[in-house]
Amino acid sequence: MAKPPTLRPESWLVAAGRPSAAGAPLNVPPTPASNFLHGDPRDYARDGGTPTWEALEEVLGGLEDGRSVAFASGMAAVAAIFQQLGSDAVLALPEDCYQGVVGLAATGASQSGWAVERLAVEDTAGWIRVCRDADLVWLESPSNPLLAVADLEAICAAPRKPGCIVAVDNTFATPLNQKPLEFGATVSVQSATKFIGGHSDLLAGVATTRDAAFYEKLKEARTLHGATPGALEAFLAVRGTRTLALRFDRAQQNAAILAERLEGHPDVARVRYPGLPSHPTHEVARRVLSGFGSMISFDLAGGAEVADAVCRQVRLIRHATSLGAVESTMERRAAHAGQEHLPPSLLRLSVGIEHVDDLWSDLEAAIASTRT
Ligand SMILES: *Cc1c(COP(=O)(O)O)cnc(C)c1O
Repeated sequence: MAKPPTLRPESWLVAAGRPSAAGAPLNVPPTPASNFLHGDPRDYARDGGTPTWEALEEVLGGLEDGRSVAFASGMAAVAAIFQQLGSDAVLALPEDCYQGVVGLAATGASQSGWAVERLAVEDTAGWIRVCRDADLVWLESPSNPLLAVADLEAICAAPRKPGCIVAVDNTFATPLNQKPLEFGATVSVQSATKFIGGHSDLLAGVATTRDAAFYEKLKEARTLHGATPGALEAFLAVRGTRTLALRFDRAQQNAAILAERLEGHPDVARVRYPGLPSHPTHEVARRVLSGFGSMISFDLAGGAEVADAVCRQVRLIRHATSLGAVESTMERRAAHAGQEHLPPSLLRLSVGIEHVDDLWSDLEAAIASTRT
Protein backbone atom coordinates (compact mmCIF):
# COMPACT_ATOMS: atom_id res chain seq x y z
CA MET A 1 0.00 0.00 0.00
CA ALA A 2 1.36 3.41 -0.97
CA LYS A 3 0.81 6.14 1.57
CA PRO A 4 -2.05 8.45 0.61
CA PRO A 5 -0.52 11.96 0.83
CA THR A 6 -3.25 13.27 3.12
CA LEU A 7 -3.14 10.40 5.63
CA ARG A 8 -1.70 11.43 8.98
CA PRO A 9 1.13 9.41 10.60
CA GLU A 10 -1.14 8.12 13.40
CA SER A 11 -3.50 6.56 10.83
CA TRP A 12 -0.72 5.27 8.59
CA LEU A 13 0.87 3.47 11.55
CA VAL A 14 -2.38 1.58 12.06
CA ALA A 15 -3.35 1.01 8.41
CA ALA A 16 -0.06 0.20 6.67
CA GLY A 17 1.58 -3.17 6.13
CA ARG A 18 -1.61 -5.23 6.08
CA PRO A 19 -2.78 -7.93 3.65
CA SER A 20 -5.56 -6.97 1.25
CA ALA A 21 -6.67 -10.27 -0.34
CA ALA A 22 -10.15 -11.54 0.51
CA GLY A 23 -10.03 -13.97 3.41
CA ALA A 24 -6.52 -12.91 4.46
CA PRO A 25 -5.82 -12.29 8.13
CA LEU A 26 -5.80 -8.60 9.14
CA ASN A 27 -2.15 -8.82 10.15
CA VAL A 28 0.78 -10.27 8.22
CA PRO A 29 1.70 -13.30 10.34
CA PRO A 30 5.29 -14.12 11.29
CA THR A 31 6.75 -16.09 8.36
CA PRO A 32 9.37 -18.53 9.63
CA ALA A 33 10.77 -19.32 6.16
CA SER A 34 14.24 -19.54 4.68
CA ASN A 35 13.10 -20.62 1.21
CA PHE A 36 10.03 -20.51 -1.02
CA LEU A 37 8.80 -22.77 -3.84
CA HIS A 38 10.27 -21.96 -7.26
CA GLY A 39 8.17 -20.05 -9.76
CA ASP A 40 8.20 -16.74 -7.88
CA PRO A 41 10.93 -14.05 -7.75
CA ARG A 42 11.07 -14.70 -4.01
CA ASP A 43 13.01 -17.92 -3.58
CA TYR A 44 15.40 -17.42 -0.63
CA ALA A 45 14.67 -15.13 2.31
CA ARG A 46 18.10 -13.50 2.73
CA ASP A 47 17.94 -12.28 -0.90
CA GLY A 48 14.23 -11.82 -1.47
CA GLY A 49 12.90 -10.95 1.95
CA THR A 50 9.78 -12.27 3.67
CA PRO A 51 6.23 -10.86 3.86
CA THR A 52 6.80 -10.08 7.55
CA TRP A 53 9.91 -7.97 6.96
CA GLU A 54 8.13 -6.24 4.10
CA ALA A 55 5.22 -5.29 6.33
CA LEU A 56 7.66 -3.57 8.72
CA GLU A 57 9.43 -1.88 5.79
CA GLU A 58 6.14 -0.65 4.37
CA VAL A 59 5.04 0.91 7.67
CA LEU A 60 8.34 2.66 8.43
CA GLY A 61 9.17 3.59 4.83
CA GLY A 62 5.81 5.28 4.39
CA LEU A 63 6.19 7.11 7.70
CA GLU A 64 9.20 8.97 6.26
CA ASP A 65 7.95 9.02 2.64
CA GLY A 66 10.91 6.88 1.66
CA ARG A 67 11.82 3.20 1.38
CA SER A 68 13.04 1.15 4.32
CA VAL A 69 15.33 -1.84 4.67
CA ALA A 70 14.82 -3.82 7.88
CA PHE A 71 17.79 -5.34 9.71
CA ALA A 72 18.55 -7.67 12.60
CA SER A 73 19.31 -4.73 14.93
CA GLY A 74 19.90 -1.01 14.94
CA MET A 75 23.66 -1.64 14.77
CA ALA A 76 23.16 -3.88 11.70
CA ALA A 77 21.39 -0.97 9.99
CA VAL A 78 24.21 1.38 11.04
CA ALA A 79 26.84 -1.09 9.81
CA ALA A 80 25.15 -1.38 6.39
CA ILE A 81 25.69 2.37 5.99
CA PHE A 82 29.31 2.25 7.19
CA GLN A 83 29.90 -0.61 4.74
CA GLN A 84 29.39 1.87 1.91
CA LEU A 85 32.71 3.55 2.79
CA GLY A 86 35.98 2.65 1.14
CA SER A 87 39.44 2.72 2.68
CA ASP A 88 40.76 6.13 3.75
CA ALA A 89 37.24 7.51 4.07
CA VAL A 90 36.66 10.71 6.04
CA LEU A 91 33.94 10.56 8.71
CA ALA A 92 32.40 13.14 11.00
CA LEU A 93 30.78 11.89 14.21
CA PRO A 94 29.16 13.74 17.12
CA GLU A 95 31.11 14.02 20.38
CA ASP A 96 28.01 12.71 22.14
CA CYS A 97 27.18 9.57 20.19
CA TYR A 98 25.89 6.05 20.63
CA GLN A 99 28.78 3.92 21.89
CA GLY A 100 28.37 1.17 19.28
CA VAL A 101 28.65 3.68 16.44
CA VAL A 102 31.82 5.14 17.95
CA GLY A 103 33.22 1.60 18.19
CA LEU A 104 32.37 0.86 14.56
CA ALA A 105 34.13 4.03 13.41
CA ALA A 106 37.18 3.18 15.55
CA THR A 107 37.39 -0.27 13.95
CA GLY A 108 37.29 1.30 10.48
CA ALA A 109 39.97 3.79 11.52
CA SER A 110 42.35 1.03 12.56
CA GLN A 111 41.52 -1.47 9.77
CA SER A 112 40.74 0.75 6.79
CA GLY A 113 42.51 4.02 7.52
CA TRP A 114 39.34 6.04 8.11
CA ALA A 115 39.87 9.56 9.45
CA VAL A 116 37.28 10.28 12.13
CA GLU A 117 36.56 13.82 13.24
CA ARG A 118 34.35 14.39 16.30
CA LEU A 119 32.21 17.52 16.54
CA ALA A 120 29.92 18.94 19.19
CA VAL A 121 26.28 18.30 18.24
CA GLU A 122 25.54 22.02 18.55
CA ASP A 123 28.48 23.13 16.38
CA THR A 124 26.31 23.86 13.33
CA ALA A 125 29.04 25.80 11.50
CA GLY A 126 31.46 22.90 12.04
CA TRP A 127 28.99 20.37 10.61
CA ILE A 128 28.33 22.58 7.60
CA ARG A 129 32.11 22.79 7.06
CA VAL A 130 32.70 19.00 7.23
CA CYS A 131 29.97 18.33 4.64
CA ARG A 132 32.42 19.74 2.07
CA ASP A 133 35.05 17.03 2.53
CA ALA A 134 33.58 14.12 4.50
CA ASP A 135 32.41 10.87 2.91
CA LEU A 136 30.05 10.20 5.82
CA VAL A 137 28.48 12.83 8.05
CA TRP A 138 26.91 10.95 10.94
CA LEU A 139 24.43 12.83 13.08
CA GLU A 140 22.55 11.61 16.10
CA SER A 141 19.88 13.95 17.37
CA PRO A 142 18.76 14.25 20.10
CA SER A 143 22.05 12.73 21.19
CA ASN A 144 22.66 9.96 23.67
CA PRO A 145 22.76 10.67 26.58
CA LEU A 146 23.17 14.47 26.70
CA LEU A 147 20.11 15.06 24.51
CA ALA A 148 21.73 17.80 22.46
CA VAL A 149 19.73 18.67 19.35
CA ALA A 150 21.49 19.28 16.02
CA ASP A 151 20.26 21.89 13.58
CA LEU A 152 19.46 19.24 10.97
CA GLU A 153 17.62 21.73 8.83
CA ALA A 154 20.78 23.80 8.29
CA ILE A 155 23.25 20.89 8.20
CA CYS A 156 21.30 18.74 5.72
CA ALA A 157 20.97 21.72 3.36
CA ALA A 158 24.72 22.44 3.34
CA PRO A 159 26.74 21.88 0.14
CA ARG A 160 28.36 18.43 0.13
CA LYS A 161 31.31 16.68 -1.39
CA PRO A 162 29.91 14.52 -4.25
CA GLY A 163 28.88 11.13 -2.88
CA CYS A 164 28.88 12.34 0.74
CA ILE A 165 26.35 10.39 2.81
CA VAL A 166 24.50 12.40 5.46
CA ALA A 167 23.03 9.89 7.90
CA VAL A 168 20.85 10.66 10.90
CA ASP A 169 20.36 8.29 13.81
CA ASN A 170 16.75 9.20 14.51
CA THR A 171 16.18 6.65 17.28
CA PHE A 172 15.43 9.14 20.08
CA ALA A 173 13.13 11.40 18.05
CA THR A 174 11.41 8.68 15.97
CA PRO A 175 9.94 9.73 12.61
CA LEU A 176 7.01 11.19 14.55
CA ASN A 177 9.14 14.00 16.01
CA GLN A 178 11.72 14.47 13.27
CA LYS A 179 11.91 13.71 9.55
CA PRO A 180 15.60 13.88 8.53
CA LEU A 181 14.84 12.93 4.91
CA GLU A 182 12.61 15.97 4.59
CA PHE A 183 15.58 18.15 5.58
CA GLY A 184 17.68 16.41 2.90
CA ALA A 185 19.54 13.65 4.77
CA THR A 186 20.55 10.67 2.62
CA VAL A 187 19.37 8.12 5.15
CA SER A 188 17.54 7.97 8.47
CA VAL A 189 18.23 5.13 10.93
CA GLN A 190 16.12 3.69 13.71
CA SER A 191 17.03 1.18 16.33
CA ALA A 192 13.58 -0.45 16.19
CA THR A 193 14.61 -2.17 19.41
CA LYS A 194 13.61 1.05 21.17
CA PHE A 195 10.44 3.08 20.48
CA ILE A 196 9.26 1.14 17.40
CA GLY A 197 9.19 -2.21 19.22
CA GLY A 198 8.40 -0.40 22.45
CA HIS A 199 8.20 -3.40 24.80
CA SER A 200 11.84 -4.43 25.48
CA ASP A 201 11.21 -7.76 23.77
CA LEU A 202 13.07 -7.59 20.46
CA LEU A 203 16.14 -6.39 18.56
CA ALA A 204 15.61 -4.86 15.12
CA GLY A 205 16.74 -1.92 13.02
CA VAL A 206 15.57 0.01 10.00
CA ALA A 207 17.31 2.33 7.52
CA THR A 208 15.14 4.57 5.34
CA THR A 209 16.07 6.59 2.27
CA ARG A 210 14.52 8.41 -0.70
CA ASP A 211 17.56 7.72 -2.88
CA ALA A 212 16.76 4.69 -5.09
CA ALA A 213 20.43 3.80 -5.68
CA PHE A 214 21.22 4.05 -1.97
CA TYR A 215 18.22 1.84 -1.16
CA GLU A 216 19.64 -0.87 -3.47
CA LYS A 217 23.04 -0.56 -1.78
CA LEU A 218 21.49 -1.04 1.67
CA LYS A 219 19.62 -4.11 0.45
CA GLU A 220 22.78 -5.51 -1.09
CA ALA A 221 24.64 -4.94 2.18
CA ARG A 222 21.95 -6.91 4.01
CA THR A 223 22.08 -9.73 1.48
CA LEU A 224 25.88 -9.98 1.54
CA HIS A 225 26.44 -9.52 5.27
CA GLY A 226 23.32 -11.43 6.25
CA ALA A 227 22.08 -9.15 9.04
CA THR A 228 18.45 -10.10 8.42
CA PRO A 229 15.63 -9.56 10.93
CA GLY A 230 14.03 -12.54 12.65
CA ALA A 231 10.47 -13.54 11.77
CA LEU A 232 9.09 -13.06 15.27
CA GLU A 233 11.04 -9.84 15.78
CA ALA A 234 9.70 -8.29 12.57
CA PHE A 235 6.17 -9.33 13.52
CA LEU A 236 6.52 -7.81 16.99
CA ALA A 237 8.05 -4.63 15.56
CA VAL A 238 5.02 -4.19 13.28
CA ARG A 239 2.78 -4.80 16.29
CA GLY A 240 4.75 -2.08 18.07
CA THR A 241 4.18 0.44 15.30
CA ARG A 242 0.39 0.16 15.72
CA THR A 243 0.56 1.90 19.11
CA LEU A 244 3.70 3.97 18.56
CA ALA A 245 1.92 7.31 18.28
CA LEU A 246 -0.17 6.70 21.42
CA ARG A 247 2.74 5.40 23.48
CA PHE A 248 5.10 8.13 22.40
CA ASP A 249 2.53 10.82 23.00
CA ARG A 250 1.90 9.71 26.58
CA ALA A 251 5.58 9.12 27.28
CA GLN A 252 6.62 12.57 26.18
CA GLN A 253 3.80 14.21 28.10
CA ASN A 254 5.06 12.39 31.18
CA ALA A 255 8.66 13.38 30.41
CA ALA A 256 7.81 17.09 30.12
CA ILE A 257 6.16 17.02 33.56
CA LEU A 258 8.95 15.00 35.20
CA ALA A 259 11.68 17.21 33.68
CA GLU A 260 10.07 20.30 35.14
CA ARG A 261 9.60 18.70 38.58
CA LEU A 262 13.17 17.39 38.60
CA GLU A 263 14.46 20.84 37.72
CA GLY A 264 12.75 22.19 40.83
CA HIS A 265 14.08 19.42 43.10
CA PRO A 266 16.74 20.56 45.61
CA ASP A 267 18.81 17.36 45.24
CA VAL A 268 19.03 17.61 41.45
CA ALA A 269 21.97 19.65 40.13
CA ARG A 270 21.03 19.73 36.47
CA VAL A 271 18.30 18.47 34.12
CA ARG A 272 18.87 17.91 30.42
CA TYR A 273 15.60 17.81 28.49
CA PRO A 274 15.25 19.56 25.12
CA GLY A 275 11.81 20.84 26.12
CA LEU A 276 13.14 22.88 29.04
CA PRO A 277 14.00 26.53 28.27
CA SER A 278 17.22 25.96 30.28
CA HIS A 279 18.41 23.33 27.78
CA PRO A 280 21.35 24.60 25.66
CA THR A 281 19.70 23.52 22.39
CA HIS A 282 16.08 24.32 23.35
CA GLU A 283 15.68 26.92 20.59
CA VAL A 284 16.95 24.51 17.89
CA ALA A 285 14.73 21.75 19.32
CA ARG A 286 11.68 23.99 19.04
CA ARG A 287 12.44 24.50 15.37
CA VAL A 288 13.49 21.03 14.15
CA LEU A 289 11.49 18.70 16.41
CA SER A 290 7.73 18.42 16.62
CA GLY A 291 7.96 17.04 20.16
CA PHE A 292 10.70 16.94 22.79
CA GLY A 293 10.72 13.18 23.32
CA SER A 294 10.61 10.98 26.38
CA MET A 295 14.29 10.84 27.38
CA ILE A 296 15.58 12.87 30.33
CA SER A 297 19.11 13.02 31.69
CA PHE A 298 19.66 14.55 35.12
CA ASP A 299 22.61 14.90 37.49
CA LEU A 300 22.17 14.33 41.20
CA ALA A 301 23.87 16.86 43.45
CA GLY A 302 25.15 14.08 45.73
CA GLY A 303 27.46 12.45 43.15
CA ALA A 304 27.86 8.95 41.72
CA GLU A 305 27.19 7.02 44.94
CA VAL A 306 23.93 8.82 45.53
CA ALA A 307 22.95 8.23 41.89
CA ASP A 308 23.67 4.50 42.27
CA ALA A 309 21.61 4.43 45.46
CA VAL A 310 18.66 6.10 43.71
CA CYS A 311 18.86 3.43 40.98
CA ARG A 312 18.72 0.71 43.63
CA GLN A 313 15.76 2.35 45.37
CA VAL A 314 13.34 2.95 42.49
CA ARG A 315 10.59 0.37 42.21
CA LEU A 316 8.16 1.32 39.42
CA ILE A 317 11.05 2.65 37.32
CA ARG A 318 13.21 -0.33 36.39
CA HIS A 319 16.95 -0.14 36.90
CA ALA A 320 17.97 -1.25 33.42
CA THR A 321 19.68 -0.06 30.28
CA SER A 322 17.99 0.63 26.95
CA LEU A 323 15.03 2.88 26.34
CA GLY A 324 11.84 3.58 24.47
CA ALA A 325 9.63 0.95 26.10
CA VAL A 326 6.24 1.18 27.81
CA GLU A 327 8.01 0.73 31.14
CA SER A 328 10.28 3.47 32.48
CA THR A 329 13.95 2.53 32.82
CA MET A 330 16.85 4.38 34.39
CA GLU A 331 20.57 3.93 34.77
CA ARG A 332 23.77 5.80 35.60
CA ARG A 333 25.51 6.10 32.25
CA ALA A 334 29.05 6.74 33.51
CA ALA A 335 28.93 3.29 35.15
CA HIS A 336 29.30 1.75 31.67
CA ALA A 337 32.80 0.95 30.38
CA GLY A 338 33.82 3.60 27.88
CA GLN A 339 31.35 6.16 29.27
CA GLU A 340 33.55 7.48 32.07
CA HIS A 341 33.77 10.88 30.34
CA LEU A 342 30.13 11.58 31.22
CA PRO A 343 29.07 13.47 34.35
CA PRO A 344 29.49 10.84 37.13
CA SER A 345 26.04 11.33 38.65
CA LEU A 346 24.13 11.56 35.36
CA LEU A 347 21.05 9.35 35.34
CA ARG A 348 19.40 8.66 32.00
CA LEU A 349 15.68 8.13 32.40
CA SER A 350 13.58 6.65 29.61
CA VAL A 351 10.08 7.73 30.57
CA GLY A 352 7.34 5.17 29.92
CA ILE A 353 3.57 5.32 29.84
CA GLU A 354 2.82 4.79 33.54
CA HIS A 355 0.82 7.44 35.45
CA VAL A 356 3.11 10.43 35.82
CA ASP A 357 2.30 10.91 39.51
CA ASP A 358 3.31 7.33 40.27
CA LEU A 359 6.59 7.87 38.44
CA TRP A 360 7.18 11.08 40.39
CA SER A 361 6.39 9.43 43.75
CA ASP A 362 8.84 6.66 42.89
CA LEU A 363 11.61 9.11 42.00
CA GLU A 364 10.95 11.39 44.97
CA ALA A 365 10.95 8.49 47.42
CA ALA A 366 14.14 7.02 45.95
CA ILE A 367 15.93 10.38 46.15
CA ALA A 368 14.63 11.04 49.69
CA SER A 369 15.89 7.63 50.85
CA THR A 370 19.46 8.67 50.05
CA ARG A 371 19.37 11.72 52.34
CA THR A 372 21.39 11.23 55.48
C1 LIG B 1 20.11 1.31 20.77
C2 LIG B 1 20.65 2.31 19.84
C3 LIG B 1 21.38 1.93 18.71
C4 LIG B 1 21.70 0.47 18.40
O1 LIG B 1 20.56 -0.29 18.19
P1 LIG B 1 20.49 -1.88 18.53
O2 LIG B 1 19.11 -2.22 18.13
O3 LIG B 1 20.79 -2.03 19.98
O4 LIG B 1 21.52 -2.54 17.70
C5 LIG B 1 21.85 2.92 17.87
N1 LIG B 1 21.63 4.23 18.14
C6 LIG B 1 20.93 4.62 19.21
C7 LIG B 1 20.71 6.07 19.44
C8 LIG B 1 20.42 3.69 20.10
O5 LIG B 1 19.76 4.08 21.18
